[in-house]
Amino acid sequence: MAEGMQKFVETPHARPEKRPAAERRRDFDEIYSSYARGKAAEQSARCAQCGVPFCQIHCPLHNNIPDWLKLTAENRLEEAYELSSATNNFPEICGRICPQDRLCEGNCVIEKGFEAVTIGSVEKFITDTAWNRGWVKPIQPRRERPDSIGIVGAGPAGLAAAEQLRRKGYQVAIYDRYDRVGGLMMYGIPNFKLEKDIVQRREKLLRDSKVMFHLNCEVGRDVSMDALRQRHAAILIATGVYKARDIQAPGAGLPGITAALDYLIASNRHGLGDAVPDYESGTLNARGKNVVVVGGGDTAMDCVRTAVRQGARSVKCLYRRDRANMPGSQREVKHAEEEGVEFVWLSAPQAFLGRDHVSHVRAARIHLGMPDATGRQTPQEIPNSHTNIEADLVLKALGFDPEDLPAALGVPDLGVTGWGTLAIDWRSMMTSIDGVFAAGDIVRGASLVVWAVRDGRDAAERIHSYLATKAHAAPRIAAE
Ligand SMILES: Cc1cc2nc3c(=O)[nH]c(=O)nc-3n(C[C@H](O)[C@H](O)[C@H](O)COP(=O)(O)OP(=O)(O)OC[C@H]3O[C@@H](n4cnc5c(N)ncnc54)[C@H](O)[C@@H]3O)c2cc1C
Repeated sequence: MAEGMQKFVETPHARPEKRPAAERRRDFDEIYSSYARGKAAEQSARCAQCGVPFCQIHCPLHNNIPDWLKLTAENRLEEAYELSSATNNFPEICGRICPQDRLCEGNCVIEKGFEAVTIGSVEKFITDTAWNRGWVKPIQPRRERPDSIGIVGAGPAGLAAAEQLRRKGYQVAIYDRYDRVGGLMMYGIPNFKLEKDIVQRREKLLRDSKVMFHLNCEVGRDVSMDALRQRHAAILIATGVYKARDIQAPGAGLPGITAALDYLIASNRHGLGDAVPDYESGTLNARGKNVVVVGGGDTAMDCVRTAVRQGARSVKCLYRRDRANMPGSQREVKHAEEEGVEFVWLSAPQAFLGRDHVSHVRAARIHLGMPDATGRQTPQEIPNSHTNIEADLVLKALGFDPEDLPAALGVPDLGVTGWGTLAIDWRSMMTSIDGVFAAGDIVRGASLVVWAVRDGRDAAERIHSYLATKAHAAPRIAAE
């Protein structure tokens, strides 16, 4: 079974070439090149083909990684693509931006002595090859169904659900308040992690598969949920979470202190060629500035690396815990350090100083105390330990909460959890309203693209069961 595989002893781990940091700092292009065919086969052959594949178990999509690695090692790329795309709607996107070090690669058995198989890079290679060779084709359902499904939100959860429903022959319409498709994949995640044409070719594929998009259409403002419920047999809410957590500290309202996502959206829009007045005026542009980013997650990493590329004078990342306890990917920290970002670990803002614009962040040193109920050590300020850090632009990257969605959508009886996420029955994925389902960050809280894809796929299955059950029950009810 493992013939030609298990080459991890003699073949060293090798990622595709990474561009030098000095070059990366000057543009927003992706930082890794792609494998050549021979290299992808060689690296795939390092897989141990273990009996219990922990990579697959720890993938939210349970991708059949060992089998598509074996097919790649054997140069059977079209089959590898078919297998990989059978469980994942966007393998080339996950290959680029999944935190593999915490998921598949972090659980690769050979990781302990030999460094993990480069699963993400192979996944990207397989699917990019499939696109280049024309193996990725629009969906042509075996039969069309008359039922129409309305999806609110064109992020990964909504798009994955749309594709799965279309495969089953449903008529699918997606509504999004933005002018482009992709949600945070388009406007949150920077181009150097995920080039935007990768998302746009997925959009085109869905359009060619006859998925309808209604962009610049905010549900709850431009169209009501009632209207959608009349138009569609079922609705999926996949609106994500966007309310930025704030910092409570003296001076927090000073100009020059900005929410991270506003900054990233401006940068992404500028990169896409849009006119962005706040970018051009310098308000949301790091050029020539001393930038301080507060936070230690993926958003903070994206901000610091964007600021470097915009030509900031200095970029510091302030995080209240240490490197080992940060939520962001260690791989991202390494990239950021190479690109010139300075990490100020165990540090938290106490106050923001400045007369009519922020000029400094007063940062206190932190000691990690006893673990709390979640097992994480509690950050405690060390008295009289502060230093003042120069800052012309402060970016707050402390995470996101859901907005008040029942109010935003104008549906007061839409049930929410204590965290403000949508309450669903996890068996049916239905909200408190009959025929209205939910998926992605709005259910899970801020999470990952791979989880959004998983939820979107699950929701599509549940919607299908719901409609099938309804159709089956209807004649009997009518007959009774
Ligand atoms: C800066 C940043 C970097 C990230 N980096 C990574 C990463 O490297 N890897 C990773 O796996 N994950 C990353 N994530 C997380 C990931 O992007 C999200 O978990 C994922 O996009 C959630 O998908 P979703 O479909 O649930 O929501 P979203 O992607 O947020 O999409 C929701 C969509 O709903 C639309 N919408 C909202 N309200 C309405 C309404 N009322 N009417 C119409 N449309 C509406 C929005 O416009 C949006 O297009 C990152 C997140 C951020 C913020």
